[in-house]
Amino acid sequence: TQDDLYDQLHRLDGQSYGAYKGLKGKYDFGKFVLHIDHVQGDPFAAPSRVRVVVPQVVAGFPRQLWELPCRAIALTDYLTREFYRATQVRQRPSGSGKSGLIGIVRPSQAVLNRSAARVTKETVELRFTVGLPAFGRRIAGRQAAELLCESVPALVEETLLYNALDGAKLQHHVNTAEDAEELRSQLAAHNLVAFIADGAILPRCSGVDDHPLEDQAVPFKSPESLRVTLRCRHAGEITGMGIPKGITLIVGGGYHGKSTLLRAVEAGIYNHVPNDGRHQVVTNPTAAKVRAEDGRSIAGVDISPFIDSLPQGKSTQNFSTPNASGSTSQAANTIEAIEAGATVLLVDEDTSATNFMIRDRRMQALIAKDREPITPFIDKVRQLFTDYGISTVLVMGGSGDYFDVADTVIAMDEFCPQDVTKRAKAIAAEFKTERDREGGECFGTLVPRIIRPDSIDPSKGRHSVKLRARDVDQLQIGTEAIDLSAVEQLVEPGQVRAIAAAIVYAQRYHMTSTTLLFEAITAVMADIDQYGLDCLTEWPMGDLVWFRGLELAAAINRLRTLQIE
Ligand code: ADP
Ligand code: MG
Repeated sequence: TQDDLYDQLHRLDGQSYGAYKGLKGKYDFGKFVLHIDHVQGDPFAAPSRVRVVVPQVVAGFPRQLWELPCRAIALTDYLTREFYRATQVRQRPSGSGKSGLIGIVRPSQAVLNRSAARVTKETVELRFTVGLPAFGRRIAGRQAAELLCESVPALVEETLLYNALDGAKLQHHVNTAEDAEELRSQLAAHNLVAFIADGAILPRCSGVDDHPLEDQAVPFKSPESLRVTLRCRHAGEITGMGIPKGITLIVGGGYHGKSTLLRAVEAGIYNHVPNDGRHQVVTNPTAAKVRAEDGRSIAGVDISPFIDSLPQGKSTQNFSTPNASGSTSQAANTIEAIEAGATVLLVDEDTSATNFMIRDRRMQALIAKDREPITPFIDKVRQLFTDYGISTVLVMGGSGDYFDVADTVIAMDEFCPQDVTKRAKAIAAEFKTERDREGGECFGTLVPRIIRPDSIDPSKGRHSVKLRARDVDQLQIGTEAIDLSAVEQLVEPGQVRAIAAAIVYAQRYHMTSTTLLFEAITAVMADIDQYGLDCLTEWPMGDLVWFRGLELAAAINRLRTLQIE
């Protein structure tokens, strides 16, 4: 019980740090049970993992807050935020290393399913870490008792009991997420790939701060011709701009808000917290940002729709390189996203390879088609839609050649969108580009790949693999580092950790020499759906965050050891 733990910790005072190991186990605190799952080896090591499990009869969350998966996710997201906030206020280091620190994953602006918290009919569970206190390498028993027997129960009282929370705020949090979910589910029926509500605040505080820009932000206002009205359960009728399926161009002067709009659309695959400004911006869940990424490795991708007959006769139907160029990387990123199930491509000129995007009349005249391996995206983007139903939203302020192939042209002017489709089409008719179409009759075949299972075995046969996430940019599995800085729709380090675990999991359970990469990924995601993120790890971990199959595929595709069958 709590008292036993208290006494035990006092007895440990002054002993060598290793004696903490005996704490592993569970302790009845009356209102909840404290599980000590893993005890750190020294005060500087990764902190100890603990869980509190509160019975629902004590916690008292009304059924309607968790009975649907989307609500349960929003509720646990809220609890994690409250706990995180409370730990930030209380944080009181007491001794060497991580002594006395209580840690929980830090939520971004997105409302996500995280292994840090779980709600069921019977219990509410929260997972976090504690730095067991020490002075030097001696156990600080009194401080440990205070930490586990006073601070932890106080945090539980403050953040895990329904009555201690602001019920209206919590309800609004859950309702906002549920509305976003409902908006997103209506996109297809309205023939849309994205919806941006009127009044939305798209710009962010800064490049490193994802909170909404406060003072000078111009609220979003839809142009009449693209305005749609959607209904949702809590907020009622919402008007905003619908981005239709097909090819949509976002044009406008520099600094007028084009990239900001596209980034909001990228983020619209996730639900967001109330007051994020993008909480009613929703996007087709299989939308993938695609960009250039020179230097990445590529394994056996058929990029021939875009790039053919390279110098020295290098094949592009089965293209591999440890060091891709801007254009080949963007071609591979596009093909791989489609292979992994993307039905919407999001492309920004700021992060694209120019020669992948355009090739104008003059360049066609100077460099004949048979001397240029690249078929530019402009000659393929329409075929992607007609042959495969894949839509593209493209920011392009630098070339009007795309007017010919666009279905919708949106101009950003002083951060306000205007529908300029008719004018763009009239201009395209008046000033012909005189380009030769280079795309051929059809897009070309997409060949799904089979991965060689041993080529994604970072454990090299060993049982346990060290996984590490460095922010959202890098993933370390065993000795292999994967650069994820160009995988832009990852928003939390916990997603990267979960992806690392998923790669190991996929390799163990779903990769054979006959499974397609896409099938393996689908199987992993189905397991997560059914059993939760916990299925990815041997022990219950508190630091995993949900991710999409698209991002899992992106990580696997960037493994430098990857080979295809
Ligand atoms: P573009 O891609 O058209 O060059 P950006 O989208 O990068 O422009 O935006 C330029 C700047 O304007 C950024 O600092 C961005 O935060 C800011 N911004 C974008 N949209 C808005 C808005 N609605 N209100 C206020 N500032 C905005
Ligand atoms: Mg831009």
